[in-house]
Amino acid sequence: MKKYTTKLFNLKGVIIDKVDVKKDVLIYVRNPRRWAQCPLCGISSRKIHQRKQRKVKHGILNEKEVFLMVLVRRFKCKKCSKPFTEKHIPGVSRKRHTKQLQKSVLKDLVSSSFKSVSERYNISSPALLGFLKDHKSEPLWPDKGEIILNVDEHSYSGRDMKISIGDYSNKNLLFVLPDAKQSSLISFLKNMPKDVKKKGF
Ligand SMILES: [Zn+2]
Repeated sequence: MKKYTTKLFNLKGVIIDKVDVKKDVLIYVRNPRRWAQCPLCGISSRKIHQRKQRKVKHGILNEKEVFLMVLVRRFKCKKCSKPFTEKHIPGVSRKRHTKQLQKSVLKDLVSSSFKSVSERYNISSPALLGFLKDHKSEPLWPDKGEIILNVDEHSYSGRDMKISIGDYSNKNLLFVLPDAKQSSLISFLKNMPKDVKKKGF
């Protein structure tokens, strides 16, 4: 069962303790490591000082929201005798959303409107804009097949406009332009790899 949960929710590298399905889907996870390194002196500690639960949004399943209930432990260093919090666990950043959630949201933004994605995931518009800002990587052009470029403008109350460029046929977000200027879009189109231009332009 746990093997399937790992696969279904893309949760590699964490221990799944239990799954609760109520109004939301709650997956209780923790770091498999029994120790953590003191940020002050670098010595490993196994002595747990405190345990806390952090709720992190992970995705949507059959219209239910999926959250990770992350066990966050505070250890106590023997040498410094100071408590410290363990580093974040695999796939879970310090933010309120997992990397997997950001990935699904960006994928959906290629083919859906900003508003509908915001409603589907129950994520505020400023948070969605934050995801777009985080996505600064080079465009990942697919090797094969047809590409249909999808150019979309995203804004929140008319402020902080962003232009995203997606590949509609593969439902991938390719790139987010640094601003909403037309010149940025033109320069992106000009600098596309030659073989991509041949495919559709
Ligand atoms: Zn220490």
